[in-house]
Amino acid sequence: MALERFRNTVAGRACESATGRWFTTANPFDGRDWAELPRCGPEDAEAAIEAAHAAFTKGPWPALSATNRGKLLRRLGDLVARDAETLAALEVRDNGKLYAEMVGQLRYIPEWFHYYGGLADKIEGGVLPLDKPDLFTYTKREPLGVIVCITPWNSPLMLLTWKLAPALAAGNTVVIKPSEFTSCSTLALMDLVREAGFPDGVVNTVTGYGAEVGPALCEHRHVAKVAFTGGDATGAAVYAAAAKGIKHVTLELGGKSPNIVFADANLDHAVKGAISGIFAASGQTCIAGSRLLVQRSVYEEVSRRLVDFAAQAKLGNPMDAATQVGPITTQPQREKVLSYIEVARSEGARCLLGGGRPEAPELAQGWFVQPTIFGEVSNAMRIAQEEVFGPVLSIIPFEDEDHAVEIANDSLYGLAAGIWTTDLRRALRLPDRIRAGTVWVNTYRAVSVMAPFGGYKRSGIGRENGQSAIDEYLQTKSVWINL
Ligand code: NAD
Repeated sequence: MALERFRNTVAGRACESATGRWFTTANPFDGRDWAELPRCGPEDAEAAIEAAHAAFTKGPWPALSATNRGKLLRRLGDLVARDAETLAALEVRDNGKLYAEMVGQLRYIPEWFHYYGGLADKIEGGVLPLDKPDLFTYTKREPLGVIVCITPWNSPLMLLTWKLAPALAAGNTVVIKPSEFTSCSTLALMDLVREAGFPDGVVNTVTGYGAEVGPALCEHRHVAKVAFTGGDATGAAVYAAAAKGIKHVTLELGGKSPNIVFADANLDHAVKGAISGIFAASGQTCIAGSRLLVQRSVYEEVSRRLVDFAAQAKLGNPMDAATQVGPITTQPQREKVLSYIEVARSEGARCLLGGGRPEAPELAQGWFVQPTIFGEVSNAMRIAQEEVFGPVLSIIPFEDEDHAVEIANDSLYGLAAGIWTTDLRRALRLPDRIRAGTVWVNTYRAVSVMAPFGGYKRSGIGRENGQSAIDEYLQTKSVWINL
């Protein structure tokens, strides 16, 4: 089967890599390569950054009014809504997420372009009330410059949009480095960026392996900021590279989120929330509720109900509407998940469900892992401390509220947490005691363009979403005029 070819966009032109090299991307459902993309090197990173720098400093973009920047963003949102099904199918082919979930995400993504498009002309400075009649002093909010957006493979377009929309609304220009495993939808988005009418060079792409282009992107002198989503080890490398040039960063990193079920919870809701918290996207979400903390008195019942529920999950082709659990996005990630299952066994966790690859022959070519549940997990075990990024749930019993808080916070991470209770006082009291950037009570996985999102502790630096996210792409200038 001939491979489809995708190209980058630099300075408004479709281009291959100066290296002349290509790499392939595979469909996780059948393990077959289906597309090839430019395997970029430092010289391609340089060209993309120079294009973004030129577009930031001269030409139509810096002269464009904030109102017109907003209009371009809103038009881009409309185009994404128009092409939602096509983009969703492309992402499924690359990352194996369920088509139904992907279409849902793609219908949601335009909200980000509309919201930040609406904020573009509400970026205001102020006049300072100095006690000096000869001085007129005011502040201005200005864009940072060239922003490098580096994205992971689990939700390529959504996680890109969280950066791209506020960065452009603020007047910056952008170079995107998508994950080498899932670049195709980002390159398809570039057709819509052009159709929306963004000037050449405002948005550019560089595909390839992180280690081959990442340092050149993060260290370049014309880059003002790196907006990164990915694993914490890569995040640390990006942070170090950006530090060399004193660049701004936002880092959206990993998680090991506690989902806490109290005995007074509505257990029907809690079980459903726990299932979607860990098995949606086959557990490949940064907010996965991978540690299920269950109060001892309902521990047996909740464990049994979870196993009964998850045992019914239908694995299959992610394009099929009946499929509930799709494959793991990459083969190395599948091997990593399976190795964590072995670690959990060797540490003495009790495997209650799954624990390997499914046996069905029609799934043999795909990178599947069975929905897996471990019981009687201790929070000190590696399975409870390290991010697995797969459909593997660890159930940890607790005695009372203080004990639950102690376990929940005993983690290097602090991205998200869930609490299931019918006690209103507890629902109000407990979020204050949990060290995480997002706390859900009697729900899980809700996100909105209006709600700031980001990590405490090792889960990251900075916030995406909400009005304040635009501040992450702006800097303030004070102007003093001696009258
Ligand atoms: P990853 O860290 O392996 O890769 C992320 C990106 O970084 C890719 O584009 C990769 O090519 C690039 N990269 C690799 N080395 C680089 C380098 N030296 N310099 C610059 N860039 C480099 O992450 P992944 O495996 O693609 O994604 C999974 C991880 O992402 C998980 O840890 C998950 O928790 C995290 N994640 C976090 C959030 C969040 O919002 N907090 C959301 C989704 C995923």
